[in-house]
Amino acid sequence: MARYTGPVCRLCRREGQKLYLKGDKCYTDKCPVSKRNFPPGQHGQSRKKVTEYGLQLREKQKVRRFYGIQESQMRKYFGMADRMQGITGENLLKLLELRLDNVIYRMGFASSRAEARQLVTHGHFLVNGSKMDIPSSILKVGDVIEVKGRSKNSPKFKEAVENHKGSTVGWLDVTVEEMKGRIVTEPTREDIDIPIEEHLIVELYSK
Ligand code: SF4
Repeated sequence: MARYTGPVCRLCRREGQKLYLKGDKCYTDKCPVSKRNFPPGQHGQSRKKVTEYGLQLREKQKVRRFYGIQESQMRKYFGMADRMQGITGENLLKLLELRLDNVIYRMGFASSRAEARQLVTHGHFLVNGSKMDIPSSILKVGDVIEVKGRSKNSPKFKEAVENHKGSTVGWLDVTVEEMKGRIVTEPTREDIDIPIEEHLIVELYSK
């Protein structure tokens, strides 16, 4: 399935909650979820009975949209999570959190995951000293992520340092001035602030 390229605020309205896809706008009064918190479209305000399948589907779509991944990737991550030890739903979220684009967003060097993805594809980051331009790379504890030498002088990253509000999560150690961060531990479920009932996704994919 092709990547969605339409207006992203519609996706938040469809899920009935903020998915933080637009960067700074998401934290202002201009966010459409604050103003019109009902699904988009002609029948958006009509009440519909939601089936069990519908609930499971919505949770899965919410996670996909939150992390900006496609269905085939989501299934791949589910397969990996299922083979890992522990709770499958939590493993799934952990894998998604450890994606390079998400880590860069969490480190505060991009205002959204979409922007982080673009910066990675344009080759602005090093992982353990080597260039890495695959946003879906899954990182591990101890990996060091930093902005590439020449890119450090770009206005984009200088601005990111000036506006940096500190690391948003405890599992990352970020040295803002050096534009660098390290994964200290694996994220736990409590670290993942996405309001999701991941067991519904497990039920959906286990059918
Ligand atoms: Fe979602 Fe951000 Fe748009 Fe609000 S501004 S609807 S949080 S993408």
